[in-house]
Amino acid sequence: MIKNSISLPNQNSNDSNVLGVFESINSEFLQSLKSSKPTSIPFLVSSGGTTSRAAADQHWILDLRKNYQNISFDLEKQHVEIEAGVTMGELTSFLKKHKRSFPIGLSGKTGMGYILTGGISPLSRSKGLAIDQIMEIKGFWGNGKEFHLLRPNTKIESTFEWKALCGAAIFLGIITKVKLKTQPLRPLLSWTANLSFSQLSECINQAESWPNSLSFQWIYGENIFAHAIGEVKNTDDEHILINLLERLPFLRNKVINKFSDMNSLPNLHLGNNKNNNSNHSEVLGLLGPAWQDKNIKVLKNLKKLINKRPNKSCYIASQQLGGVTHLNDHETSFIHRDAIWKPWINGAWEAFDQSKRKRSIEWMKECWNNLEFICPGVHLAQTHPHLGWHEKELSSAFKDWLPKLQEIKAIHDPRNVMPPLK
Ligand SMILES: Cc1cc2nc3c(=O)[nH]c(=O)nc-3n(C[C@H](O)[C@H](O)[C@H](O)COP(=O)(O)OP(=O)(O)OC[C@H]3O[C@@H](n4cnc5c(N)ncnc54)[C@H](O)[C@@H]3O)c2cc1C
Repeated sequence: MIKNSISLPNQNSNDSNVLGVFESINSEFLQSLKSSKPTSIPFLVSSGGTTSRAAADQHWILDLRKNYQNISFDLEKQHVEIEAGVTMGELTSFLKKHKRSFPIGLSGKTGMGYILTGGISPLSRSKGLAIDQIMEIKGFWGNGKEFHLLRPNTKIESTFEWKALCGAAIFLGIITKVKLKTQPLRPLLSWTANLSFSQLSECINQAESWPNSLSFQWIYGENIFAHAIGEVKNTDDEHILINLLERLPFLRNKVINKFSDMNSLPNLHLGNNKNNNSNHSEVLGLLGPAWQDKNIKVLKNLKKLINKRPNKSCYIASQQLGGVTHLNDHETSFIHRDAIWKPWINGAWEAFDQSKRKRSIEWMKECWNNLEFICPGVHLAQTHPHLGWHEKELSSAFKDWLPKLQEIKAIHDPRNVMPPLK
């Protein structure tokens, strides 16, 4: 069954004029894959639909949200298996019934794309990334062949395909199902507050020496809002975390609360600017080390960039990662294992206004240029094959691993039907 309209959470995608929408990987769809031209034009995959590449003008869309909703739990191994239409919020709610959790990101609205692009959770400093939890992965390569890969047990056994799928799957094939490790469900401490510019600098400084069970995230636009999140293992632990949180400076609206799961946490947002659906936007994620003695320099740069943002909904935000557990897991395509901060740049403009779009994209590039000295890496949580910087974002995301990834793509997606790796 092919439709020709689509309703998606991402505003750019939602407003696009698509050629048609497939909702199942059936013989008709596989046939169209095989007959597509050897270019990157034919189709896009949508799981959660939260990015600007869930749909686009003149593209075919494979929307997995309706027909890929299965979710099941293995009581013995405590693994969960989800199909590609399950959102991270639905995964969290399902696991709560089994007193388990999964390191989802800052929003339950994201879908399988969150896991496939790495998946940086506020709990990643102790639990690792979402891709570190994958035990099995099923889908179709870009050439239409079905695959089912299991996590290799030893380094000797490890395959390039596994490494490629864990972090670069969206360039190689359509993922229909993953089996994931789960974690015990524990209460979460949440500290939220509005900050002044100098308080943000002080908070970042303090967060860089926190234990792995606590992470700091902030958003800077019209004002500065910050959110620290910690996992409570026991009562002693809770006292330590509360002491650290009480040391953070704030301007107003400080709230410390305890929540039962990630779904219940407050959103990271700028108050009035959220959900402006007359805007379109792009997001670019960067990765880099601790700021330490460069803290003041980075923040001064940020202030200048924020002051000249072309639209009130433009902002820069960041989340904290780093830590020891996931440093052991090198067998993935997320190569920036030593990153401590993931700042992301949100460029927004009034929908369909091409000159304002151009200004916001220019502003994003200026932000990237100014932050690159402290954030040399890129997190491809959102990809931009439609923008001039795609080649640069690929090389900053995968560095020396990119040529091998391109070789793997040439084997499994020779006609480039999935997003380009060049
Ligand atoms: C509110 C919000 C909060 C976020 N917080 C975090 C966070 O804390 N940590 C973090 O790491 N990221 C975060 N992100 C980024 C988000 O995880 C990524 O943008 C992710 O790619 C979104 O996945 P999706 O399935 O929702 O989006 P989609 O737009 O459906 O997909 C994103 C990309 O993945 C490809 N894709 C999707 N599904 C498949 C599939 N099954 N097979 C092959 N390719 C596929 C699509 O082609 C597309 O290019 C956040 C995003 C939002 C909107």
